[in-house]
Amino acid sequence: MSALIHSSEDDLVFLDEPETNDVSARTKLAPKWRIMIIDDDPDVHSATTFALGSLEIQHRSLSFLHAYSASEARDILAHETDIAIILLDVVMEQEDAGLQLVSHIRKTLGLSDVRIILRTGQPGYAPEIDAIRDYDINDYKTKSELTRTKLYTAVTSAIRSYEQICAISASRRGLELIINASTALMALQGLQNFASGVLIQIVGLLGGQTEGFICSQQAVDNINETPTATIAETMAALCILAATPAFTDWIDHPLEAVADTEILALVQQTLQLRHNLYESESTVLYFSNVAQRELAVYLNTGLHLNEMDKRLLEVFCSNVSVGLDNVTLTSRLHSYAFYDPLTRLANRLKLLQTLNETLQSPLKHLSTLSLIDIDHFAETNDALGHQFGDLLLCAVAQRLVTHFGENCQLARVGSDTFALLGNEKIVYPEAILALFTTPVSVDNQDVQLSATIGLVKLADYEGDGSEALKDTNIALKRAKTHQRSGYTYFTRDMGVEIRERVRMMHALRSAFENERLFLVFQPQVDMRTGRALGAEALLRWKTEEGKFIPPDQFIPIAEYSGLIVDIGEWVLRTACHELVHLRSLGHTEFQMAINVSQAQFSHPLFMQTLHSVLQDSKAPPECIELEITESMAMKDPELLIKTLHQIKQLGIRVSIDDFGTGFSSLSHLQKLDVDKLKIDRAFVNEIKDNSGEGSIAKMVVQLGQSLDMAIIAEGVETTMQANILLSFGCHLAQGYLYAKPMTPDDLHAWLASQGTGRKIT
Ligand code: C2E
Ligand code: CA
Ligand code: CA
Repeated sequence: MSALIHSSEDDLVFLDEPETNDVSARTKLAPKWRIMIIDDDPDVHSATTFALGSLEIQHRSLSFLHAYSASEARDILAHETDIAIILLDVVMEQEDAGLQLVSHIRKTLGLSDVRIILRTGQPGYAPEIDAIRDYDINDYKTKSELTRTKLYTAVTSAIRSYEQICAISASRRGLELIINASTALMALQGLQNFASGVLIQIVGLLGGQTEGFICSQQAVDNINETPTATIAETMAALCILAATPAFTDWIDHPLEAVADTEILALVQQTLQLRHNLYESESTVLYFSNVAQRELAVYLNTGLHLNEMDKRLLEVFCSNVSVGLDNVTLTSRLHSYAFYDPLTRLANRLKLLQTLNETLQSPLKHLSTLSLIDIDHFAETNDALGHQFGDLLLCAVAQRLVTHFGENCQLARVGSDTFALLGNEKIVYPEAILALFTTPVSVDNQDVQLSATIGLVKLADYEGDGSEALKDTNIALKRAKTHQRSGYTYFTRDMGVEIRERVRMMHALRSAFENERLFLVFQPQVDMRTGRALGAEALLRWKTEEGKFIPPDQFIPIAEYSGLIVDIGEWVLRTACHELVHLRSLGHTEFQMAINVSQAQFSHPLFMQTLHSVLQDSKAPPECIELEITESMAMKDPELLIKTLHQIKQLGIRVSIDDFGTGFSSLSHLQKLDVDKLKIDRAFVNEIKDNSGEGSIAKMVVQLGQSLDMAIIAEGVETTMQANILLSFGCHLAQGYLYAKPMTPDDLHAWLASQGTGRKIT
């Protein structure tokens, strides 16, 4: 069918764009549009190639594939790719061979991108409009219609739509890849992993042949391990984090070590410009994130990187930046998990890791763990503010780092407690205490600090890291109670003591539940008459084995464990019932003194408990006296004043126990609405000569008198003490001289035997 060529020769259309050198160069490099001609008439093949052969569309020339039957076309299509247009004869072996081939192309081969232009010799063979739509046929022309011009126009528009379709499906594929890639990247932890992930994904996006490497600031994950380095210092060094096989030699090397100066220059230029660089043979991608971490990917993309690829890369880059934020976030989470944000020292968790490693290594035999507690930090913090406190802690951390940082593991394990783990030749009390002999500079002020230290030698240590830390803490507590600014090494018996205390806590709980706690009552007498005015209720614990455990031992444990709240309520109830019982026996003036602990007193339901005890027992409030300690009065003055007021309103009286052992200022004491001071046994015990002049006991009596408070002396054991106290003007006493604490039955008998009372002379 050569008519095709002849009839169209006159109106040949050439490219309307002028051909610059640039364009022709580009055309040479660009792949050709592949056009497949399927026709059983060889003339049609030659006429078509002749008509289209010299044309360029979008700066790309055409190349041709030829098939002379539908079956030959099937064979070719089975292995050829990237065909842009098929010019297909409708009638070949069979009348519908062309249409069947179309169905094969679209449905069986699933080629949806290729554009199909149907040609037929006879207009009668035009396919149904449905077929055109169903098979996505671009154009349908009778061969006589296809002048050269028309053929060119048809092919050009088909190529345009092919290009669009390709772009759309490529971007769809690309986006799928990007989404998959980004999801894969999210799961990677740590910058190094993330970097190699990014590189793998990019190479994948570009079709697998590309080689390249990725570089970034590496040290960021470890920033906390070098607290002395500034962020700028740590960020500055760019390092090759990952590379494809061609560049693997450079991994872990600084960027400057890249031997290829051209590549180095390109990467540096990219980092400077802060955007992607597309060169003729290579591409450098630039990423940065909010944390200002920069990342550059060098790719030797070869000759061709089309607009589509670029767009995909851009989309990918923005996704990677999000991923990079994630990496930074996870590193930060990691550092929150293991580092103290204030001082940038390791935290307790990190210390425990190192400690466990040390305990499992030979290092254990040479190592000492030490806890360093800043003395009076809480007071400084309260007095000068938290900001100052924070600076102070940082200054201490810095000093510790300077002296021990290189060789030891340092950590901050509590608000003002630091841990130091290292060789015992380095970590020992004198070396640590020496750090506190010169003042630290905080906010341009010199602050003189002192510290208390607890230590554990890890050699022969049996337990794990957390036990070692616990034991060091026990040693520290011991050091604190003995002397501030001192130190204590942990010894085995301290551990035994603690374990004993835990055991006792369980035993106490079960004793309380099994009603093995009971009260005894120690009379309080008027020394002038010897008459009992009342008694103090004192708690007793008799174990199943019949052993008595002194309250000085178990009360602190009850307080520490919170058990005191329930036990204390029981004491209140039992004492009130005994009071009511005593009244029923005729002792209607009898006063009951009941001890109340800090934990009970500050419990939100304390007042409610007191109400219900009074209601249930019908005990008269004016016959009840609560004993609180002086140290309690110091702890929370506001709460104390409020609660005291409520207690007084009930008609209950309050005395201050162990007076003189804690420190209360006079003005403080005046504010507290209390009725009585109880001179501590220790001061009574002090009275050994006949005058008692200048004794604390005398001062307390005078203080009480001036504040218009009643005074009672505790632990009066001798007549001399009684007489001297009387001479001071203290009339009330409680002590072995008069009576020991006794069970209710004994108390009833004792009171009965007293009759009208006896006079002490
Ligand atoms: P405390 O309140 O100062 O009780 C007085 C302690 O001195 C009692 O010891 C008593 O037996 C003892 N004592 C009395 N007169 C003399 C004496 O002439 N010489 C000597 N050497 N000691 C004397 P106890 O019963 O062992 O109680 C010790 C501490 O246990 C009490 O000191 C109190 O702080 C606490 N305690 C006892 N019972 C209770 C209670 O029911 N609740 C609370 N919260 N604490 C209690
Ligand atoms: Ca008491
Ligand atoms: Ca006392």
